[in-house]
Amino acid sequence: MLSAVESKLDTDQQTTYFRCIAGCSAKHSIYDVIYTCPSCGNLLEVHHEREPLKKRDANQWKQLFDSRASTSTWPYGSGVWGMREWVVPSLADENVVSMFEGNTNLFWAERLGQQLGVPDLWIKLCGNSHTGSFKDLGMTVLVSVVKQMMAQGSAVKAVACASTGDTSAALAAYAAYAGIPAVIFLPAGKVSTAQLIQPVANGAHVLALDTDFDGCMKIVQEVTKDNSIYLANSMNSLRIEGQKTVGIEIVRQFDWDVPDWIIIPVGNLGNISALHKGFQLMMDLGLITRMPRLVAAQTVRANPFYESFQNGFKEKVRVTAKDTLANAIRIGDPVSYEKAIKAIAATDGIVEQATENELAAAAAHADLTGMFTCPHTGVALAVLTKLIQRGVIKSSDKTVVISTAHGLKFTDFKVGYHESTLEEVTSQYANPAVHLPANADVVKAEIEKRLMH
Ligand SMILES: *Cc1c(COP(=O)(O)O)cnc(C)c1O
Repeated sequence: MLSAVESKLDTDQQTTYFRCIAGCSAKHSIYDVIYTCPSCGNLLEVHHEREPLKKRDANQWKQLFDSRASTSTWPYGSGVWGMREWVVPSLADENVVSMFEGNTNLFWAERLGQQLGVPDLWIKLCGNSHTGSFKDLGMTVLVSVVKQMMAQGSAVKAVACASTGDTSAALAAYAAYAGIPAVIFLPAGKVSTAQLIQPVANGAHVLALDTDFDGCMKIVQEVTKDNSIYLANSMNSLRIEGQKTVGIEIVRQFDWDVPDWIIIPVGNLGNISALHKGFQLMMDLGLITRMPRLVAAQTVRANPFYESFQNGFKEKVRVTAKDTLANAIRIGDPVSYEKAIKAIAATDGIVEQATENELAAAAAHADLTGMFTCPHTGVALAVLTKLIQRGVIKSSDKTVVISTAHGLKFTDFKVGYHESTLEEVTSQYANPAVHLPANADVVKAEIEKRLMH
């Protein structure tokens, strides 16, 4: 006989499972070490059956989530686990690996919005998170599931990913918090100290290989084949479950009102797929009655999704991604392509792109209104500007820009901009420090000169 707790876990596992996005009929446990459909090789997604969730009505869900937000009760103080019934209901409390991520600020960008002609402009600051990017939202889920797998006797003994940036920082931090070994694969000599230092500090096994990112990806897939090391790269759809809470959180922060637009910088396309998944769930359960229009923002230097959108998604475009200031979205062959097409189609969405100069100018302009934007957020803000100029986003529209990382992770970008040393960028807002002698008269004269303008 199963105990009450065990049988509840059993039911939860039968109503939340992996299924193939192409429609193959098999259901797989989310505690299986599996990344793609065994029949057709397509991506998997975590599916939540709707009927059990409809036992609560829309208002009950809203009240429940409102009552948990930003409390300190384990694990509900996390923006992700405050919605646990919609994320991984079968996860036991003691296996949740959380540093109370999420619940990031959504603030009114009053001056920037006025200057751009969209007074109802809001910034969702996902970079105000533990490792400085929205990747924390997905990693808390992935590492928690791994912890539960290990507690149940799985052969998994470590987690791994190939990455040069925010993914490895988030994986290393959550693995260290849980006491699970993490292995990080990096292309030797191709990453900066800043990108290296987070996993190094968190005690991950950081392996620099004599190859590029794609070469690292091949090795990590080979190494994880025997299922003793769990793969945390983008094809792992558990991360989407955590990331989808951003959209739900935005609506909750607006007292369950849906904005007209959400703009997000995209690379592997997991984040926009996740936004859509969260909104779809809220629609299906009656919490909202319309979708926001989603905008995927890409850099011109890595724009396969933009090119695919241009051809009406008739065929998937792959490009060789070039060097860009927005290096977290330097991806030429995005993994979550099929899911992202659904996101654009279901929300009357748009894909737009920005040049290096446009992203740098948009970031610098936003900084002058009090922000400290990362280059990816610059891409989203540049795309916002274009859509306003084109009359697509109207002055009365409520628009949210998702800021995906903290600007302090990208100080080289800021320094380069204000020293006017960035390639392909004209630093129109450069504001370098001025060097003066320690003489009060000279200093006064300089201040007077400046404040007169
Ligand atoms: C990962 C990342 C993105 C892109 O997210 P995808 O899910 O790959 O589309 C954008 N901005 C930052 C800062 C990131 O770390």
